[in-house]
Amino acid sequence: EAYVLRLSHRPSRDKRVTTHVALVARAFGAKGVFIEGEDTHLIDSIKKATEVWGGSSYFKVETISDGKSLVSQWRNKGGITIHLTMYGINVCEKIKELSSFEVPLLIIVGSEKVDSWYYHNVDFNLAIGNQPHSEIAALAIFLDRLYKGLELHYIFEDSKLRVIPQEAGKKVVKNG
Ligand code: SAM
Repeated sequence: EAYVLRLSHRPSRDKRVTTHVALVARAFGAKGVFIEGEDTHLIDSIKKATEVWGGSSYFKVETISDGKSLVSQWRNKGGITIHLTMYGINVCEKIKELSSFEVPLLIIVGSEKVDSWYYHNVDFNLAIGNQPHSEIAALAIFLDRLYKGLELHYIFEDSKLRVIPQEAGKKVVKNG
């Protein structure tokens, strides 16, 4: 199972991007997101989305004060930590090895500059290509590779609403 650590969330600047990191984490099969920083509004809005669209029974959303201690604890407990960075090794070279792990994975994405500590204290520094782009895109592609596209078919059993796919228009029904 995979969890996401979003580093250095600044409520004033990162509200939208961090929300999208959390929504991608949930929609693409992760089991939770840790947000480094403080932002109760953000946590409430992610929880609300999870209540409506499903996953609230297991999807964990919490803020933490120090990403480094989470990374150290994760590794001490036998979990694997993966930092997504344009400076890392191409994901294509490592995805087979990563898919074989049966311990919890912590996928780390930055916001602005990521402290050099992470580059030296994680198990893997992985690039979704070696060009600069976005933490949202990097996370989505990483999870899609990890779950081999199967996450796109996942049904959230405990959702309040469910989309009925349409060629045109929108159809949403109450679940259950
Ligand atoms: N310039 C910053 C630095 O050097 O740390 C990164 C800024 S980038 C907008 C924010 C985050 O997006 C990064 O911390 C990384 O997690 C992710 N990211 C951006 N491009 C990436 C890539 N090619 N591969 C993997 N992750 C990437």
